[in-house]
Amino acid sequence: MNTSKRVLCIALALVLLASVFAFADNEESDYLDKDNYIKLGLYYGTTNYASSITINSDYGFNVYEESSGVLVNHIDDTSISFDLSDSDVSGYIYMSAAEDPDSRLITMKTDRDSSFKTYRDGIYLIFRNGFRVINYLTLEHYVWGIVNREMSSRNPEEALRAQAIAARTYALYIKNNSSSHSSMGFDLCSTTHCQVYGGVASENSVTTQACKDTEGLIMTYDGEAIYAVFSANSGGGYTMSVYDAWGIDMEKHPYLQSVEDPYTPEHRWETTYLFSELADRLKTKLGLDIGDIVKVEVSDTNSFGAVTGLLLTGTNGQKRIPRSQIMSTFNLKSTFFCIGNDGYNEITKAEATPEYTYVLTTNGVQQVASSLLYIYNGSTTSKMAITKANSYSMTNDVCTDGYCYMRGIGFGHGIGMSQNGAITMARDYGMTYDQILNFYYTDITIENYR
Ligand SMILES: [Zn+2]
Repeated sequence: MNTSKRVLCIALALVLLASVFAFADNEESDYLDKDNYIKLGLYYGTTNYASSITINSDYGFNVYEESSGVLVNHIDDTSISFDLSDSDVSGYIYMSAAEDPDSRLITMKTDRDSSFKTYRDGIYLIFRNGFRVINYLTLEHYVWGIVNREMSSRNPEEALRAQAIAARTYALYIKNNSSSHSSMGFDLCSTTHCQVYGGVASENSVTTQACKDTEGLIMTYDGEAIYAVFSANSGGGYTMSVYDAWGIDMEKHPYLQSVEDPYTPEHRWETTYLFSELADRLKTKLGLDIGDIVKVEVSDTNSFGAVTGLLLTGTNGQKRIPRSQIMSTFNLKSTFFCIGNDGYNEITKAEATPEYTYVLTTNGVQQVASSLLYIYNGSTTSKMAITKANSYSMTNDVCTDGYCYMRGIGFGHGIGMSQNGAITMARDYGMTYDQILNFYYTDITIENYR
């Protein structure tokens, strides 16, 4: 090798080395840290896929292979369009190439949209007959779009911070534990099935600030993100345990205990259904036909009096609707309700059983803890029923008159944080987000998930 060739080789080697270092220098863009991202399904399924798609980013795009997370291409164009002939885009993420992660915005329009919508971070495409469109965005950016939908920005900041942590924890839990959407290639959908997400349009500067104030914080139990379910209004003076409300073993979610909730304001509701409307709902929601309905009764309740079984009798059979389907089938605000005709059903705030009961014995008056008291009726012995302070009692009647009148209390499943309660705690008691979360979720730790 002559001298000039040797110089050329060294120069070439230096250039190569420099480019390797340049790549390593900008680690964030040559390799995607997938643990930090949520895959959010926007268009998918056998009918709801896109046939054409246009994406715009002011900074061009970095293209990553999803399976490896490796950067494979950079595109300077600020607008790209795909149609059904572009099946080779399957498995790639088109990430906005903006340097500042918070400036990574992509406007997108598919043949299913009437106008462009703005999303954060990236668009991940899977081709199966058409495009499954998945928003590939950081957990933080996802939560920015969720909190404003879950709790109005007019609420106190400590309640918004509690909401931000609950929403972040819930999303991470679903990502780590749920397989509902994994066969489709994403973690969460953007509908009520998971949490409603509408892109940048659903963000608000006040609620986003609450997310930034609590960046990365989640609730854990035994080091894992908890199943951080929450509802609008616990009702009933108590939150429900995950067992009370859904019959799920407490060992699975030991932090979802029932707690006495003096903070949640009473929220009452009422509605009336004609038997024909109930029959229609059975058909459309559950695909059940039991003929004309002749009788509706509450067949099961939990220890709080909430309905865990609703029995409908029709001319062609009987159907018991289990607790998990009652609210969705009949579009009810909660399962804490009573039914009847002509107003025979009632909700009353129960008189609490005193802690001690005084019993007259042959040795005079004795004080006995009420929880230890048994009643003997001459043939059988039973434990005395204890009514807790701040609880409600329900009087149910059987509906036979062609309609069913329902009175209820609370809004939502009543498990975990009650949003109305969190707002009261922050606004009227000056409580902080960690006090709110530790009140509603038992024995949890608040820590950064990273
Ligand atoms: Zn979903």
